[in-house]
Amino acid sequence: MAENNNKPKKKIGFYWVYIVLIAFFIGSIVFGGSGSTKETTMTELSKMLREQDIAKIELVNGRTAEIYLNEQGMRKYFPNERQQVFGKTPNYILKVSEDRLYSKVDEAQQGLANPIEVIPVERHNWGAEIISWVLPLLLLIGFWIFITRRMSGGAGGGMGGGQIFSIGKSKAQLYDQEKDNKTTFKDVAGLEEAKEEVMEIVDFLKNPMRYTRLGGKIPKGVLLVGPPGTGKTLLAKSVAGEANVPFFSISGSDFVEMFVGVGASRVRDLFKQAKEKSPCIIFIDEIDAIGRARGKNIMSGGNDERESTLNQLLTEMDGFGTNSGVIVLAATNRADILDKALMRAGRFDRQIYVELPDLNGRREIFEVHMRGLKLGNDVDKEFLAKQTPGFSGADIANVCNEAALIAARKNKENIEKQDFLDAIDRIVGGLEKKNSVITQSEKKVIAFHEAGHATTSWMLEHAHPLVKVTIVPRGKALGAAWYLPDERQITTKEQMYHEMIATLGGRAAEQIIFGQISTGALNDLEKVSKQAHAMVMYYGLDETIGNVSYYDSTGQQEYSFQKPFSEKTAEKIDAEVSKLIESAYQEALRILNEHKEGLTQLAEKLIDKEVIFTDDLVTIFGERPWKQEERTFTKKDNA
Ligand code: ADP
Ligand code: ZN
Repeated sequence: MAENNNKPKKKIGFYWVYIVLIAFFIGSIVFGGSGSTKETTMTELSKMLREQDIAKIELVNGRTAEIYLNEQGMRKYFPNERQQVFGKTPNYILKVSEDRLYSKVDEAQQGLANPIEVIPVERHNWGAEIISWVLPLLLLIGFWIFITRRMSGGAGGGMGGGQIFSIGKSKAQLYDQEKDNKTTFKDVAGLEEAKEEVMEIVDFLKNPMRYTRLGGKIPKGVLLVGPPGTGKTLLAKSVAGEANVPFFSISGSDFVEMFVGVGASRVRDLFKQAKEKSPCIIFIDEIDAIGRARGKNIMSGGNDERESTLNQLLTEMDGFGTNSGVIVLAATNRADILDKALMRAGRFDRQIYVELPDLNGRREIFEVHMRGLKLGNDVDKEFLAKQTPGFSGADIANVCNEAALIAARKNKENIEKQDFLDAIDRIVGGLEKKNSVITQSEKKVIAFHEAGHATTSWMLEHAHPLVKVTIVPRGKALGAAWYLPDERQITTKEQMYHEMIATLGGRAAEQIIFGQISTGALNDLEKVSKQAHAMVMYYGLDETIGNVSYYDSTGQQEYSFQKPFSEKTAEKIDAEVSKLIESAYQEALRILNEHKEGLTQLAEKLIDKEVIFTDDLVTIFGERPWKQEERTFTKKDNA
């Protein structure tokens, strides 16, 4: 595109489109039409022919007769137009078929000494024809220019300034700690564990020598996993702020464009920029936009552009040395859908969970965001934190801001409790649509559900004993429980069965306490069904089916539509699976009925504190009679 070479006159591209269009229209009128041409009839023409007023007749494209008068004819029919250049434009036209014209002309001139003949002419209306060719082309080009401008301009914030040539440039935003407002750990409330983990990165960025001297390796990539608004960006920014290094921020979706190869070249550019500014931090938000697992779906043929972007990212991360001083932090709320290659050693080999805040966390977030506000005496952070279950940090920041606006609208001197409550109402209204806020009655159901898991697992010898339960919602699950898993290589049938009972404990508790069950147990049911299927079909743990395994370690079976067993066996498997699940459910009901009182106490504690630990269970139920082996790590289970 030539017009893009002279950068200052960007707009010209569009003007010449208009100019060309107008020129064509004018052209088509000038060449195609004619000045003072009149239409005539066959009768008139016959008369003119008989009286010999005509100089010539041209039949254009076999459709239109153009009639030129001679001098005598001009005097007769256009006495006032003497000045008209004779013979240049036709004086009359007549739309007529070829045959009729010839026969009529012959007929009218019968007997005349020198009859004139019709001259057939082929004529193209170049103007119109060119337009019909060129116009769609021009429209296409115009559209293309429009799109590229939109894509390379827009949210990029100045970088690239709307030129097609900059489309491969990274759109990362650079925050310089000296110039911009500095974010530090002070601004991040709660998230103690996450802060502790990133502390090491801060330390390294501040003092790389200390680590490299000993040959230590610092993580190149850290994945922050958690729901939106929980402060992942904030945490990354505060790491940069604490270490006093530049911070590049870009969203994963910025890499993915319509054009092939753009994503990869943006990644390249981003890393080039970052290396120039090293030590520094690159923050990639929504990394799932590019990091989704590759080639899962064999039918789709793959999303090549996204894959090449991802490959480029992996290449860049492998390419720079461990100690080059560039650390990549990436955020996602779906770690499970990420490509495993991203998590390999030397890439994003570290994951930090950033969860929705619990009661305590919410109080601290309120504290952070109330710092700059003029508060009334009746504002109680503890109370507000209680009123906002399921809120993320961003939601709470929103509440504080909204409360200030509401108070200002009422011309108040300072922000009072009622303003905060109004703000919460308003934000709950918005959030309910997003389905992430829980009402008080829902909270009760969730508390009993989770208490059901906790109680059953506490009472079963082989179930993983629990260390922590929360009713802070995460993902599709209502709450979550953390268990101490056995480091067992082999699982017995009894262990699997006990786990199934504990998994069904949530639904069983709902049944016992409320007399009805809810949809909240979807996760649990999925897990139990899979486990039961595995027991029957893979591990040969079912007596009726026997020591048969339909497991396919080659993984090829996944894509075949044929089951490796007969219909009859399938029916038997189904029957065994439901029998297994049903008996586990009955067992869960039995345990919970027996310990109904403890269950209720536990649930009430959960409603009050939102989190409970092993200690609380010991207080309520007493120590477990089985000896617990020493274990080192915990396993989280959304249940
Ligand atoms: P994410 O990147 O996880 O979607 P952000 O970091 O963009 O969330 O958070 C948005 C805003 O919410 C932040 O700018 C901050 O004002 C507020 N916020 C979120 N979490 C916290 C927190 N733990 N402490 C203080 N403020 C928070
Ligand atoms: Zn559950």
